[in-house]
Amino acid sequence: MKFISTRGEAAAVGFVDACLAGLAPDGGLYVPEEWPRIDPAGPDESYVDVAARIISAFADGELSDDVVRGICQRAYASFAHQSVAPLVQTGPNAFMMELHHGPTLAFKDVAMQLIAQLFDHVLAERGERMSVTCATSGDTGGAAAAAFAGAGHVDLFILHPFERISPVQRLFMTTTGSSNVHNLALTEDFDACQAIVKSLFADRDYVRRTSLSGVNSINWARIAAQSVYYATAQAALGAGRPLRFVVPSGNMGDALAGYVAARCGLLAGFEGVCAVNENDTLNVLFEQGRMRREQAVATPSPAMDISVPSNFERIAFEVSGRDAGLVRQIYDQFAQSGDVELPDQIKGPLSCSGLSSKSVSNATTMTEMATVLAETGWLICPHTAVGTSVAREMPQSNAVTVVLSTAHAAKFPETVLEATGRDAPLPERVKALAGRAEVFEQMAADAGAVRDYILSHQRT
Ligand SMILES: *Cc1c(COP(=O)(O)O)cnc(C)c1O
Repeated sequence: MKFISTRGEAAAVGFVDACLAGLAPDGGLYVPEEWPRIDPAGPDESYVDVAARIISAFADGELSDDVVRGICQRAYASFAHQSVAPLVQTGPNAFMMELHHGPTLAFKDVAMQLIAQLFDHVLAERGERMSVTCATSGDTGGAAAAAFAGAGHVDLFILHPFERISPVQRLFMTTTGSSNVHNLALTEDFDACQAIVKSLFADRDYVRRTSLSGVNSINWARIAAQSVYYATAQAALGAGRPLRFVVPSGNMGDALAGYVAARCGLLAGFEGVCAVNENDTLNVLFEQGRMRREQAVATPSPAMDISVPSNFERIAFEVSGRDAGLVRQIYDQFAQSGDVELPDQIKGPLSCSGLSSKSVSNATTMTEMATVLAETGWLICPHTAVGTSVAREMPQSNAVTVVLSTAHAAKFPETVLEATGRDAPLPERVKALAGRAEVFEQMAADAGAVRDYILSHQRT
């Protein structure tokens, strides 16, 4: 199967190259040239079984079925729950899908564990090494550190804003004890970290010289890996039963994965509601048909404090009838003005895509956490609360509602305490972090210094 760019000016590549590259060289995002038909998950299939079938469908012979199975087995062996993404009932016709049983207690583990196994296998086969870099506002860096720690063929460089992430988030990144994981704590905010990573990738010569890759949420491997739990949810709740997924969203990778699962025939139907916080660019996109760049504001759900939902580009490409020229034009205009009115060719079909968006205020997010505690006795994380709050306000329907629980409450203890008056119980995995030696390098947010650091610390 070939993967093509949403901007139409990059050569088609295979699954492995699309995943290793992350972003396409023309600035677009990779999508499969056509959607594979994949049989829905069966009730007797394990999570690894389903994951292996879905990844194999995308890899389409580039990797043998046995190799893909091994990758999936190793990826999900690190989860504390054998179902990987178990469902729990919250009310009549209402469920929560717990995506926080991975090593760093957030749903990013689901995809990152798989990417790390995939990269390491492929690079070992090719006899190559790669350096992977990511800027993180908290969760992605920890998930990447846990996934790539000890990888023989990948050196990981994580940029995080010094003293602007929670202590638990920092500990997950800095205590791996692995010499191939490098943490750079930059004395600036997340946007500055991200700008530096972008500047590294803009220098094609540097990218070649350092074999640099990224694992942010536009990487196709992440989307493919995340489509798996939509398929297993359908199997668990009954084939043919209409489901309505509520997805706490930022870059929209997770919601897109649901759309992809539907396109590949894994779901009975598709309704995906993006639940966003006060950073409501997605809402403006879906409700007003406008793509507008705003400064991200801090909220109780920091992993969703995103001003430009990058995976929307794949949706725009699909609903426009795969009009790469149009997508290119929109994103060129957006790069210049930061404000684009979507053409009717996108607006119309977008409203029939099954996707929509709802925004939740900070105050509502906080009271929602207390409400869920009163209703179920559970402490939920603030991102999940944005989802349950949206689900609560939705009109009755015959669909089963599934809210994706994207992180464990223990990852955001300060917010949980403030909202509920309770301390989130610490899972073993968090307790185990205490007392471990932290390794990170504090430095100025200087692109040149980061460039040099990667060059001098990568294995050759
Ligand atoms: C990353 C993240 C999200 C947002 O996911 P997207 O794929 O970027 O939409 C939501 N919740 C948590 C806890 C996250 O870490």
